[in-house]
Amino acid sequence: SVTLENISKRYGDVEVLRGIDLHIPAGQTVALIGPSGSGKSTLLRLLMTLERPDAGRVLIDGESMWTEQRGGREVPARAAHLRRVRGRIGMVFQHFNLFPHMTALRNVAEAPRHVLGLGREEAEQRAREYLDMVGLGDKLDQYPGKLSGGQKQRVGIARALAMRPEVMLFDEVTSALDPELVGGVLEIMRELSARRTMTMIIVTHQMKFAECSSDRTLFFEGGRIVEDGPSAQVFGQPAEARTRQFLEAVI
Ligand code: ATP
Ligand code: MG
Repeated sequence: SVTLENISKRYGDVEVLRGIDLHIPAGQTVALIGPSGSGKSTLLRLLMTLERPDAGRVLIDGESMWTEQRGGREVPARAAHLRRVRGRIGMVFQHFNLFPHMTALRNVAEAPRHVLGLGREEAEQRAREYLDMVGLGDKLDQYPGKLSGGQKQRVGIARALAMRPEVMLFDEVTSALDPELVGGVLEIMRELSARRTMTMIIVTHQMKFAECSSDRTLFFEGGRIVEDGPSAQVFGQPAEARTRQFLEAVI
């Protein structure tokens, strides 16, 4: 599960997140939608520990991210604690960030091998398993330069999955893809969501994608959650006028 308690974040004078309270139970898939600049990526970066909140708490499965218990007291987290909590979270970005000089197989096997310390055989076995899962079992030895955008994005997803995270964050993973490649990536994300083995947060500007891939949708604006409900309801019959306005403008 992911819990945010009164999370605030500002950059200089700009308040990017304004007191966010949010609980996402384990296994749930949440879509995060909202205007450009509303703080969606900041929220994901915060969960990835790439940013630190100015106030509030982040809990992963009830465990506080920035503090730890020592001698019965809550003290600022040390690097090892942060690394461990962060290890439970995976992220896929809009731009695939694959290593260009490594084959698809090695791209996926790299972190299991060097971060988790698996042996080469075991890491590659695992990489094969996840590349198979995203439909790239026949591209193991291909370099990223010879893969399509959709295939690269699927390698990116396999790479994150290979670390077996409890929480997966997706930031606009389809927005750099040609429209006809979006379907394949969507299909994989739906499948992952249906398994309910991970908690997933999907940030996207593609409303169909948000609606089809998630259980629950949050409409975000100005660093606040404006609407939070089952996806069918938020897209079908939004409760807030502002959500309705946004959806009419983007669809
Ligand atoms: P988009 O849909 O365009 O990706 P977003 O909802 O993901 O937008 P964020 O990237 O979270 O928006 O940015 C929220 C606000 O914070 C923006 O006003 C942005 O300019 C500002 N911001 C983000 N990162 C930084 C930073 N490192 N330093 C200063 N300001 C930042
Ligand atoms: Mg963003």
